[in-house]
Amino acid sequence: MRQENVMIDYTDGQILLTLYIQEYIYYVHIELEDLISDKFNVKIHKETGKTEICLQKMSPGVQWKCIGKYLDKHNKFIKISEQDIIYKRCTLESVSEVTHDTKLLGLTLPQGCRMCVPLGYHVHIKHNISGMEVVRSYTVVLPSLHTEQQDSRVLEGRLFYLMIKIYKDGTLTPWIDTLSIGDELDISNYDGNFIENRFHCCKQLILFAAGTGFTPMIRLIYQCLTDSTSDRQVKLIFFNKTEKDILWNDQLDSLSSQSDRFSVHYILSEPGNSWTGLKGRVNKEMMKMFLPKKTDMTETNSDKSSSSSSDILICACGPTQFTKAVQQYTEDLGYNDSFHAFLG
Ligand SMILES: Cc1cc2nc3c(=O)[nH]c(=O)nc-3n(C[C@H](O)[C@H](O)[C@H](O)COP(=O)(O)OP(=O)(O)OC[C@H]3O[C@@H](n4cnc5c(N)ncnc54)[C@H](O)[C@@H]3O)c2cc1C
Repeated sequence: MRQENVMIDYTDGQILLTLYIQEYIYYVHIELEDLISDKFNVKIHKETGKTEICLQKMSPGVQWKCIGKYLDKHNKFIKISEQDIIYKRCTLESVSEVTHDTKLLGLTLPQGCRMCVPLGYHVHIKHNISGMEVVRSYTVVLPSLHTEQQDSRVLEGRLFYLMIKIYKDGTLTPWIDTLSIGDELDISNYDGNFIENRFHCCKQLILFAAGTGFTPMIRLIYQCLTDSTSDRQVKLIFFNKTEKDILWNDQLDSLSSQSDRFSVHYILSEPGNSWTGLKGRVNKEMMKMFLPKKTDMTETNSDKSSSSSSDILICACGPTQFTKAVQQYTEDLGYNDSFHAFLG
């Protein structure tokens, strides 16, 4: 169990605790005897996974006769795949420009809600457009790659960030483009299938991203570089159309100059005349340049008295065609077991 496996929804005196336990969800659903504050404290015992959720009475001196009345979902186990998608009314707290067509949105959860989104997971935004319910997925990111710019409410599960590209001819994003601070959006519980343990076990992380496919890489890069107990190397190979499309270009450059564990390589399909970097679209020869040769890997591993290919994790995210191509080349180059695709 991790903090992200405990979701809390407290409204109108009713509390719903949603606990994600492997492929199942366990619910605690109670109409509480009296009011509580929204200062929840979740403690998870590292070794046993024992989970304690501490709630604070609104009136500390008052004795409750019992905890309250159990509601319909209480004490039920269901498969995650069978859960209803629950939407929460979130409030837009901040908006900033990332590039000419991409924005960073800071969103607060409703009071009484706590949701820490696991690494590599996404949420859905739902909105009614011209009488039709439109739902789109967005990966949860950070406000910045710099440690000093993080907000403690993110760790508490009260605030999260999305980086969204606006398509002028798209269905949902033109509406997102019109939103102002204080506006409300319906955002779902989290969804995804990234297995975090694969990330913790690897020694080399190689990330292939195209355009907004960069979003799941943000937290992976941050997590890696802020973990002082690890010497894991991170390489980002970032595909874009032109120079002005590169998300967080300055942050990535400053990070790579500050850290000897991180490197970034940009590849543009339609660069300007002054571009001296790599050009083109993803292909097998290009991928070979960034993946360690199988023999190199064995040598490195034998140096470190390990021979497991789990030492390397390759991730890809971008338009489906891009992600599938990276997956195919990865397989062709013999890295079948070391690959994760972020797909819908
Ligand atoms: C798991 C997941 C995570 C994602 N995370 C992010 C994220 O973090 N940030 C982000 O910006 N996006 C993300 N996306 C993409 C996002 O969900 C939307 O697809 C995107 O925002 C476009 O939505 P839209 O309704 O505005 O545009 P859409 O109406 O879906 O159209 C998008 C573009 O495709 C074109 N198009 C639409 N239909 C067709 C068609 N049939 N043939 C050819 N072209 C077509 C449109 O003209 C437009 O240019 C993610 C997607 C998935 C599946």
